[in-house]
Amino acid sequence: FVEGLEALKDEPCLTPDHYRLPLWVNTGLMTDTVRSLDKGAEGVGLYRTEVPFMIRERFPSEKEQEEIYRDQLKAFAPKPVTIRTLDIGGDKSLSYFPIKEENPFLGWRGIRVTLDHPEIFLVQIRAMLKASAGLDNLRIMLPMISGVPEVEEALYLIHRAYHEVLSEGVDVQLPPIGVMVEVPAAVYQVKDFARRVDFLSIGSNDLTQYILAVDRNNPRVAELYHSFHPAVLQALQKVVNDAHKEGKPVSICGEMAGDPAAAVLLMAMGFDILSMNATHLPRVKWALRNIPLEHAKEILDDVMEMDNPRVIRSAVELALRHRG
Ligand code: PEP
Ligand code: MG
Repeated sequence: FVEGLEALKDEPCLTPDHYRLPLWVNTGLMTDTVRSLDKGAEGVGLYRTEVPFMIRERFPSEKEQEEIYRDQLKAFAPKPVTIRTLDIGGDKSLSYFPIKEENPFLGWRGIRVTLDHPEIFLVQIRAMLKASAGLDNLRIMLPMISGVPEVEEALYLIHRAYHEVLSEGVDVQLPPIGVMVEVPAAVYQVKDFARRVDFLSIGSNDLTQYILAVDRNNPRVAELYHSFHPAVLQALQKVVNDAHKEGKPVSICGEMAGDPAAAVLLMAMGFDILSMNATHLPRVKWALRNIPLEHAKEILDDVMEMDNPRVIRSAVELALRHRG
């Protein structure tokens, strides 16, 4: 079976009824990147820049960041690489930039930190742009967006960094820019975001935690953390529908995309890209190559009528066993 999965590396993720769904990967360390290429990833849907920041003892300089990002972009070129701006706070902190809060997941996190420290943000964007010169496979993604003013401020800073880089004589294009939908408020503003950016990407790890008010890292309430919860599934479907109404693509880069049963539902919902940990890519590809899109849509229609996350998961798994 493992050999069978390995053999799929160079095969496309194509359903029996010829529906093509790109499978991308999430990365953080260079080792993830190498592993991802081995698994036949078609792009990077999420490169977590906080990872190289966390393994250092101080903020990497613009030059250091440029090198780190260039390694990522180069390893995948010409395939696209989505670099996310620093997402610290919550459960991720830097020893040299401590954040102490009562409620870190509801506090100073992601874009909130970097918009309060535009100097950190601008250095990061300039480094990304310089790293992409001559490769042009960069996409920039903004974490923890909860409102339009944050999107507008971030876009303003990205444009400013772009003009600074151009004035230094670097020949580079303005890359596609996207926002993460991972806060419930964002679910209801997808159309407003979609008019301003090039793509959207759902962070289902955080979106699930915030919709259900269940800490994603607390074992005491882990039983309540369900990506198959009807409220989560309805939110995901709404985001896809609203983004598509504005003609913008939507991907998903939470752990959910790496679960074959969930991937079947996500494909049926209309996601344009599934981005996952490289380890899960072969299994997801195998599952999707064995289920016609039309059957996946029937399964989705059935489970959208159900009200219990456990029953929903079993129903999808049972349907896959019967049809797959
Ligand atoms: C998410 O929230 O689903 C996500 C992809 O981002 P992170 O896990 O880094 O918070
Ligand atoms: Mg997140």
